Amino acid sequence: MTDTAPRIAPPSVNPFDFIDEGLRQWLSEHAESLHHQGLDSEHLIPRLAQAGLFAHGVPLQAGGLGGDARHATMAIAAVAEHSLAAAFAFWGQRAFIEYLLHSPNETLAARWLPLLLSGEHAGATGLSNAMKFLGGIESLQIHAEIAPASAADPDGWHLQGKLAWVTNLRKAGFIAAAAVANSGDQPPMVIAVHSDMPGLIRSADLDLIGLRGSNTAALSLQEVHVSQADLLHEDARVYLPTIRPAFLAMQCGMSIGLARASLRRAQQLAAGRHSTTASKITAVQQALAASVTQLLEGVQQQRFREQAPALFRLRIVLAELTQQAVGLELQAKGGSAYLQEQQDGFARRWTEAAFIPIITPSLTQLQAELQRHTPSSA
Ligand SMILES: Cc1cc2nc3c(=O)[nH]c(=O)nc-3n(C[C@H](O)[C@H](O)[C@H](O)COP(=O)(O)OP(=O)(O)OC[C@H]3O[C@@H](n4cnc5c(N)ncnc54)[C@H](O)[C@@H]3O)c2cc1C
Repeated sequence: MTDTAPRIAPPSVNPFDFIDEGLRQWLSEHAESLHHQGLDSEHLIPRLAQAGLFAHGVPLQAGGLGGDARHATMAIAAVAEHSLAAAFAFWGQRAFIEYLLHSPNETLAARWLPLLLSGEHAGATGLSNAMKFLGGIESLQIHAEIAPASAADPDGWHLQGKLAWVTNLRKAGFIAAAAVANSGDQPPMVIAVHSDMPGLIRSADLDLIGLRGSNTAALSLQEVHVSQADLLHEDARVYLPTIRPAFLAMQCGMSIGLARASLRRAQQLAAGRHSTTASKITAVQQALAASVTQLLEGVQQQRFREQAPALFRLRIVLAELTQQAVGLELQAKGGSAYLQEQQDGFARRWTEAAFIPIITPSLTQLQAELQRHTPSSA
């Protein structure tokens, strides 16, 4: 280009605009079946991978698109605007990717990151038991016994136990993270188990009232042999707090997306007819925007590593805003919200919203944690 050539301004790029038209259409066509019937669940992860979504917030040298947990969070939010089942499976996949990025086991990461980024394999997080264990609510449900040394594996373990809830257990193949009580006085470990391991048994999909396409099932472990190569971290108490900020921030993406979708619909319905509802919608939109800003700033400044309670409070506020948003959608829609023939996603969003407070760590668990941090405010 010469100096006299007209300067063309670069297109304005919204760094958080993640969904292309093809994916938008796919998600809106499949949102109801992903929620109610569980159809299309096997296609979901490859379809999200095709749109490059798992690579947001993953360093370039690890095969990603760069950015940080803000980008992953807002990509999950963008999907949640269309389907919470899709967003939750996305979160499971992306959380497992985050575990690999923070694991000292570089060989495990090098082996699995390409398979997870490409959507060839599904990643799942069976860590609700572990989070409750850290909070002193529950004991670990999986136990390790040192396996007899063999030439192939001189220092492995046998795992025994059960995970009652795990999402994104794709039938075509998955890898899942689990916290495991170690033998003797060794600290609890975090181990990756995958669907090819003998003794790892996936139940049928749980009979859920919604999110049925999220590939949610129980895992039973019967003498599953694992080795050092499967170790995500040798000490869950050290590892889990390092991954918790991204784990929770990305969960917030689900609330943000769902709240946005309900508020948008409420605004369309209320336009010109419900003046009292309209002003409430505006107030919740403003509160949501303020919470999103706080979340993204905190993640960018890495503030939540030291200030976990601030992130817990944001997750609670965002969950409450989501409940208010679907409530306003209901109020704006009125009686027709109850008519099958007038469904426009409202009934789905209503049950999707019921999931937000019980995602690990649930609001109950977070409130208990906050009381522990500030006992005087209890
Ligand atoms: C569709 C679906 C998918 C899921 N997928 C996954 C997954 O992929 N991975 C995963 O790990 N988990 C998963 N879960 C599990 C989920 O994370 C749990 O629902 C969550 O941990 C809530 O636990 P809970 O049922 O024990 O309820 P909680 O919210 O923990 O508690 C329920 C009740 O227990 C009591 N209680 C709890 N904590 C305390 C406390 N500190 N002090 C006093 N009382 C307390 C209270 O009475 C409370 O009302 C999934 C669940 C669902 C529904």
